Parts: sequence; C-alpha cells; structure tokens
Amino acid sequence: MRLFTCNNCGQLVYFENTSCTRCGCVLGFVAENLAMESFKPTEEGLLKLVEGDQSRLFKYCSNGINYNVCNWVVHATETQDLCVACGLNRTIPDLTIPENRDLWTKVETEKRRLVYSLLVLDLPLTPENLDSPKLAFDFLADPVSTAEESQRVITGHADGLITLNINEADSATREKMREQMHEPYRTLLGHFRHESGHYYWDLLVRNSDWLPLVREFFGDDTQDYSDALKIYYENGPATDWQLNYVSAYASSHPWEDWAETWAHYLHITDTLETAHEFGISVRPQISNSKELQTNVGINVYDSKNFNNILRHWLPLSYALNSLSRSIGHQHAYPFVLAEPVIKKLDLVHRIIQKGFEEGVVSA
Ligand SMILES: [Zn+2]
Ligand SMILES: [Zn+2]
Ligand SMILES: [Zn+2]
Repeated sequence: MRLFTCNNCGQLVYFENTSCTRCGCVLGFVAENLAMESFKPTEEGLLKLVEGDQSRLFKYCSNGINYNVCNWVVHATETQDLCVACGLNRTIPDLTIPENRDLWTKVETEKRRLVYSLLVLDLPLTPENLDSPKLAFDFLADPVSTAEESQRVITGHADGLITLNINEADSATREKMREQMHEPYRTLLGHFRHESGHYYWDLLVRNSDWLPLVREFFGDDTQDYSDALKIYYENGPATDWQLNYVSAYASSHPWEDWAETWAHYLHITDTLETAHEFGISVRPQISNSKELQTNVGINVYDSKNFNNILRHWLPLSYALNSLSRSIGHQHAYPFVLAEPVIKKLDLVHRIIQKGFEEGVVSA
C-alpha cells in the first residue's frame, strides 16, 4: 500500500482516513489516481481538490455518506453514487441488526484493500468479455434464529460472486475458527485475496493458453472438487504438504492451491509496496550475506521478474516476523515458501503480467 500525505498540510495520512488529523481537510480516495486526495467542500455540497484541477468536482461515495463505511469518492458528473469498490456489492448485511453495522464496516475496510491491489495490478473488475461473470460481493450474516449447520453462510466464490460470512469480521469468532481449522493465519483480507483468486482463475486461466501450464504446476483441476474437499476435511492434509504447498488447505484441490498461491502473491506485493513506501531496508548485524539483505529499492508493481520480488521479500519477511514476535504477536507471515511454491508464485506473476516471455521458471 502506498503512503499518502495531506495535499493541504503535508501530514502523513493513511488509506483508511476520512479527514486530516492536522488540518481537518476531507480526505477521499480517487481510484483512477490510486491516491488519497484532500478536498474542500463547495457550496453545492460537492468536493473540490485542494491541489490540482479545481474544475474536477467529486462527491463522497454514498456508502460513506449514509453509513460511514467508505472513504472513496466518485466524480460529481457520474450518475452512480457508489464508488468503484462499493459498486461491486450485490448484497450488504441487514442493518436493522445493530451488530451488523460494525462488522460490515470492518468488511468494507478490508475489501477496499483488495480492490486497491486489483486496480494497481491492472486486473479487470468487470470482464471485457460480457459473457464472463462480473466480480460481485454478497456480505451475509448467519440467520439469528437458527444454528442449523445447513443455514450457515459459507464464505466462498461462485461465478464471480464472492460470498463472505460477516462473522469473519468478529475477531473472537475468527480466532476460534482459526484454532479449529489449525490455521496459522486467518484474516478478512486473506479471505478476500483467496476468493478473488478463484474469480481470476475463471477469468485469466480457464479459457486461456495458460491452462496447460497451470495444470502442470498446480495439478489436474478436473478432479471432482466436492469429493476432493470432502476427503481433505475427513483425512486432513498429507503430512509432507509443506514440500509442495503454501498452506495445508492448498493441498485440497488445484483450485484451492491456485487461490491460496494467488492470495500470497497479493500479500507479498502489497507488503513490499508498503515497505518500499516507508524506505525500509534490512541489513542484519550478524551477516554480510546478500540473501539476508534488502533495501526494498524496487517498485514491486514494475518488476517483471518474480525472482527479483522474492529476493526482497525473503529478508523482509524474516525481519517482519522477528519484529512481530518482539511485540508479542505471532509471526506476521507464518509461512515457508518451498521451491514448488515459488514456481507457482512465479507463474501467477507471469499470468498477471500477461506474458510468457518474461517467465524465469520452466516447469
Ligand atoms: Zn491536512
Ligand atoms: Zn464506496
Ligand atoms: Zn477457495
């Protein structure tokens, strides 16, 4: 994620901010510039940029105005009142239930981080081919009156529609699920990144020239999906899953392996961008080994070569995990990237970068 400053006073501002803590300017994210901008209200109730083209007027996303769950803006001339991120919502939670408002706010905050990544990676939010499904979200809560297993909302993806059980936004529930599922990591953003992977498999792989290569790396996805998941939940992963997969769940079916790997690609690129923006460099006192050093001198989104990304990621992730332990948290990135996982990440990178020619890895 980029770092931003208030255009009016220079204060550091974050992606989630709605107003500048120093000068009080209205802040809003302009998706087409991938930038937080500072605004002054006009007499007509619109927003004009503090700096830049004053003739361009904006309005706050209506989910921001009505529910305080969004800080993106829309051009005043647009008929649509929702921003590009909120416009993807098909169903929002039932707001007559008071708890849902808070959970939905958390959901939207993380969803915007996903949408930021998709925009910065130039991934289509709506497919060029109108026959392909559009990306959309259903945010649903379990029915209040029943604890029936069959009535529960299952987080998942089908034909472009990502369904998220908003209870995942409740830390206690999520942590309990994490323990039950023996997962080292479970976050809302992780869910969004994973489920978006299924969408982009449909869009970028299913009917593309990449399919044979994806099958070579990830395995035969024609094997029955429900059977594979049933077997996985009954028997658990193979004991040596770490040798080939980024997570135990990735071993359940090639589609899940793809979605998990895709999510990690987004974890890695976003975190490297943040590190780059902060000018973080890592140079351990105990060693001169280049493998342990990085100055994160790259703009990760310009990097054609995944090995280059990995070269910065590994030392950064070691430092990140050590810092996280020092402050009393578990490892921030509790994963090991085995060689086959790196090859799969490289393939995801090449598919996102739209070219066979840049690949550094052969099957
Ligand atoms: Zn300011
Ligand atoms: Zn919005
Ligand atoms: Zn999945």
